[in-house]
Amino acid sequence: RKMNFNPGPAALPLEVLEEARDSLVSHGKLGMSIMEASHRSPAVEELFRETERRLLSLAEAPAGYRVLFMGGGASAQFALVPMNLLPRGGFAAYALTGSFAEKAYEEAARVGRAEIAFSSKESGWRRAPVPEEVRSTPGAAYLHVTVNNTIEGSQWNGLPVTGGAPLVGDVTSCLLGRRLDLSKFSLVYAGAQKNLGPAGVTAVIAKESILADAGEGLPLIFRYATYLKNDSLYNTPPVHSVYMMNLVLRWTERQGGVAALETANAAKAKRLYDAIDRSGGFYEGAVEEAARSMMNVIWRIADRKLENRFLAMAEENGFEGLAGHRSVGGMRASLYNAVSPESCGALAEFMNEFARLHG
Ligand code: PLP
Repeated sequence: RKMNFNPGPAALPLEVLEEARDSLVSHGKLGMSIMEASHRSPAVEELFRETERRLLSLAEAPAGYRVLFMGGGASAQFALVPMNLLPRGGFAAYALTGSFAEKAYEEAARVGRAEIAFSSKESGWRRAPVPEEVRSTPGAAYLHVTVNNTIEGSQWNGLPVTGGAPLVGDVTSCLLGRRLDLSKFSLVYAGAQKNLGPAGVTAVIAKESILADAGEGLPLIFRYATYLKNDSLYNTPPVHSVYMMNLVLRWTERQGGVAALETANAAKAKRLYDAIDRSGGFYEGAVEEAARSMMNVIWRIADRKLENRFLAMAEENGFEGLAGHRSVGGMRASLYNAVSPESCGALAEFMNEFARLHG
């Protein structure tokens, strides 16, 4: 198998893939695949309960938080958050730290009134704000932040003071990759395809109290309250994606949980940032040092003409998924939980060697 640095869908743990393969045709005592089981069967109900319990526990969610399993990816949440949480006549505040944050804001502005509480767009998304830079927006229905900016390679360190507004977080590319103080958030959401499993399901983790009566006038299928009341089984859910998430969560527990993975991920990222910083200017980090993401390391080669050669040689050497996002260019290595320290070490050595040959 290749060393997979894809940004998402991302690498999955080999153990999980093997386990899924072994139970694909016949799952335990079911006598059929879990994909063939009714979503009204006790096995599937128990799978959803178990996956919720594990996710709440791994994410260290305080009491009173619930998980909703939804479809439509994190992008659907860009719209569903304001549809459910932004009352008519109210406004929501957005901190813009990258293109996904901007998309979330644009969707909110289609739903109702959205204000920009911070933007680093003029710096080319090179920086994440220090929390004090976010304009206080008293009276906002919520403040939305994108905790890790997958495309730009930056992350928040510390969280803004919201002036009383509930905090909502897009945690798609950092949930379970590093610890997060969920008690500061009223609601977070994450597409599964980074640290949680394959694509196909989105986890919303939120205070039950904020979900229970959200979105009063909405069609039922778009209401958080509908998913809450029905334990995410209102209609046919993506059962297999949730099954895969459960396997990934079990694997995450076996690694020692999020605290252990955070330590490992910080060391993985350091290997690559060191390769950039010690290259004598051959490589350039894409964002300010203080804003550097632990999950998505992005860099350029000072001599841009060498970038295609780098990518081609990397591929020849078994490194997959290193091309930067088309809007950014350069290189990006995504270091989610399933990417091994050994792969990161091998990539750092490859970077050093490439710089030595071409510098
Ligand atoms: N938000 C962030 C931070 C992401 O990284 C992504 C996808 O990579 C999205 C939102 C969009 O997710 P989806 O493709 O599941 O809609």
